[in-house]
Amino acid sequence: MSSQRLDISPEGGAVSILINNEWRAAAGGGAIPVYAPSDDGQFAQIARGGAAEVDGAVAAAREAFERGDWGRLTATERGRLLMKVGELIQANAEELAQLESRDTGKPLSQGRADMAAAARYFEYYGAAADKVHGETIPFLEGYTVMALREPFGVTAHIIPWNYPAQMFGRSLAPSLAMGNATVIKPAEEACLLPLRIADLAIEAGLPAGAINVVTGLGEEAGAPLAAHPGIDFLAFTGSPEVGTLVQQATARNHVGCVLELGGKSPQIVFEDADFDAVLPVVQKAIVQNAGQTCSAGSRVLVQESVYDEFVGRLKEAFSGLVTASHDADANCGPLVSRDQQQRVQRMLTAAEADGIPVISRGGIAEGTPASGYYVAPTLLGPVPRDHTIAREEVFGPVLCAIPFRDEADAVELANSTDYGLVAGIWTRDGARQMRMARKVRAGQVFINGYGAGGGIELPFGGMKKSGHGREKGFEALREFSVVKTIVLNHG
Ligand code: NAD
Repeated sequence: MSSQRLDISPEGGAVSILINNEWRAAAGGGAIPVYAPSDDGQFAQIARGGAAEVDGAVAAAREAFERGDWGRLTATERGRLLMKVGELIQANAEELAQLESRDTGKPLSQGRADMAAAARYFEYYGAAADKVHGETIPFLEGYTVMALREPFGVTAHIIPWNYPAQMFGRSLAPSLAMGNATVIKPAEEACLLPLRIADLAIEAGLPAGAINVVTGLGEEAGAPLAAHPGIDFLAFTGSPEVGTLVQQATARNHVGCVLELGGKSPQIVFEDADFDAVLPVVQKAIVQNAGQTCSAGSRVLVQESVYDEFVGRLKEAFSGLVTASHDADANCGPLVSRDQQQRVQRMLTAAEADGIPVISRGGIAEGTPASGYYVAPTLLGPVPRDHTIAREEVFGPVLCAIPFRDEADAVELANSTDYGLVAGIWTRDGARQMRMARKVRAGQVFINGYGAGGGIELPFGGMKKSGHGREKGFEALREFSVVKTIVLNHG
């Protein structure tokens, strides 16, 4: 069954697979219901694609890259098309934000911020498309050597459900800017925005096969994409467990990958920090998107001498937090799925059973549907350093407060998890700022601030189990391209 139009209505034909700029249903007609996290009501459905659709999508991307209109465009022409996608996202921002908010449960204002960021990815990489220069290399007498930056060919993208619109832009825009053709498998829990933006890309004039989308379950659509011999590079964001699986799959075809696998990022508060500046940022960095942010500041490490004072103020701030449905636009919305809600609740129950004190808990607004996937923001502490909840990613609105003695102890504690994604350092001592920044193992370090993943221009990625490779900024253009060295012997 095939159609020209995207159809995600609950009574429609689940037409959400995009191949060659044609929307179609899954070959077997399978569908996956889409529920609103705020009340557990079904409001859409997507196609349950599998290996056959992945084959078709990879073949379309290969054709677009090697023989199609996409592969013939100049870098400037590609850039213009990407910027047009950014413009269309902005022109439709309110409607898109409403849909993203409903699909993921995130408060509407976060949905709006996500649209601005998604548009910015296309704008930034569109503008950068014709500014990636290669190099010439001094060599032997009579030779000229060029190192060109070329696209891989077909890149595959597997993205999570926490920021579907932003992740679509973050992963696809730099790859397209470099001239690759792409196949994306969005997350089954929340993928309506990738579908809408792909539709806008067609409207912007992206040629057939430049963007192909296969909706479906991880094992049925994601696994065959990662293992496909027709892809040349893969970008994955999600859990460390699935990250291992996709890396094994790409390794079998000797295909490279960039992996972004989350974190347990510390906010390190020294006794000389400006608490008025720290408090709102620390709070937002764990409450934003209900803590479902890979760069969430999920550990607040506080110097012993000010622990009681700082945590006392944080307690107050947490108890004023309100959780409510996405359209109420409160501090916190529901989690993305029942599974995620139960996982977070299990971790909280285990921590409390082990005697970890709950310092403070936000409230759930009156009238909030009991059927939604809510977890109130929770501040725990002091959390023992070796406890699971101090070391593993919760991916919910749960902040662990942990005291430290001095600078050396702060470094040891900050680096004591398997992750290394982002860190925040709060101190007025300039020398200490730099010593700490150099010693903390994280892909991004903020001093007296915290980006919570923001900053399209800033290279982003992990150390240790947070993954490898870099997205965002110009680094992403290097990541989604390959160097070809041409040696000319002209005598
Ligand atoms: P996940 O790793 O299972 O899913 C991420 C993406 O991978 C989705 O598109 C999914 O369909 C796909 N996928 C799943 N199984 C696959 C397979 N075998 N082969 C190929 N692709 C597959 O993540 P999740 O289950 O949605 O969340 C679990 C945990 O992962 C969360 O609680 C959180 O800790 C972490 N997470 C991290 C991020 C992040 O941004 N780093 C995002 C989402 C989830």
